[in-house]
Amino acid sequence: MSKKIKKYFIIPIFLPHQGCPHRCIFCQQQTITNHSGNQHTPDDITNTIELAIKSKHHLNQKLKEVAFYGGTFTSLPVASMTKMLGAVRPYIEKGIIQSIRLSTRPDSLSEDKLNILEPFGVSTVELGVQSMDNRVLLLSNRGHTSQDTINAVKILKKRGFNVGAQLMPGLPGDSNEIFMDTVDNIIGLKPDIARLYPTLVIRGTKLAQLYKQRKYTPMGLKDTINLCKEACIRLENAGIPVIRIGLMSSPSLLEKGEIIAGPWHPSLGFLVRSAIHLEKIRPYLPSMGETKNILLCAPKEEIPLIMGYKKSGIRHIETLTGAMIKDIIPDDSIASGEVAFKIL
Ligand code: SF4
Repeated sequence: MSKKIKKYFIIPIFLPHQGCPHRCIFCQQQTITNHSGNQHTPDDITNTIELAIKSKHHLNQKLKEVAFYGGTFTSLPVASMTKMLGAVRPYIEKGIIQSIRLSTRPDSLSEDKLNILEPFGVSTVELGVQSMDNRVLLLSNRGHTSQDTINAVKILKKRGFNVGAQLMPGLPGDSNEIFMDTVDNIIGLKPDIARLYPTLVIRGTKLAQLYKQRKYTPMGLKDTINLCKEACIRLENAGIPVIRIGLMSSPSLLEKGEIIAGPWHPSLGFLVRSAIHLEKIRPYLPSMGETKNILLCAPKEEIPLIMGYKKSGIRHIETLTGAMIKDIIPDDSIASGEVAFKIL
């Protein structure tokens, strides 16, 4: 069983490409994070934290966590790591911030590096695993192998850190089968959380060149939803919560048209969750031709999942059953993941 992961309010600090030994072919962190990539001084970090903890939103949150994202934190010079972590330390000591998380590469961890992180209150390390297939990793210019991921997860778990695994379906050389093998391999390593970031073609990357040369074809949205659905079901059945599906919308991604191709959708996670829910409730729906008009009853919290994105869930159910849904009535006496229907 994996540990119970606490829910934190995250104060993100983006370090685009800082510490990265080279550029992976799909990656353009300045665009993804909407951050220039300038080095953060300890004062910048203090200012970010001060602004965050004074905001109305944060005042209501019990548990707060500072997160260093967007680069290879543990490949930064030791002095840079300790300066940045040191800027968070006073807030941890006063109990204002409860912990720190950071993202890094699987080949950039060692006992020595963990010795640096531990005293500062780093509790979660998220690994950019991307794939467990060595050919996919090679074609993406990752510069590490699946063995590095195996080693990194082992050493993090041995030392008691929470481990996150970030996975990218749809990289060059990947396929549905290869990606599901990646998922199975990751399940075997028992990380505490996972994220799914389907591959997008972002302007200025080597992947964009390959796409323009017709040497790379991104996944379609429908396939991506199906694959993420299967991956989520498998990971979560194994006790590994999937805490994010798809990149966050950022103004630079959306307004400037920086995504050239790929399965981008502003609500990809919701589409996947809705598809998973439909699979759960399917046995409780009328069979095709059984009736023409129905009222659905479902737990109140689950109605948005049934409705789906712009009512696509309703249309899907109507196609599956041949019955028109006249209304969905909240009914919390119905078990989670189930529905009841009334024939009209
Ligand atoms: S994927 Fe990670 S390691 Fe590769 S360039 Fe981007 S931030 Fe750096």
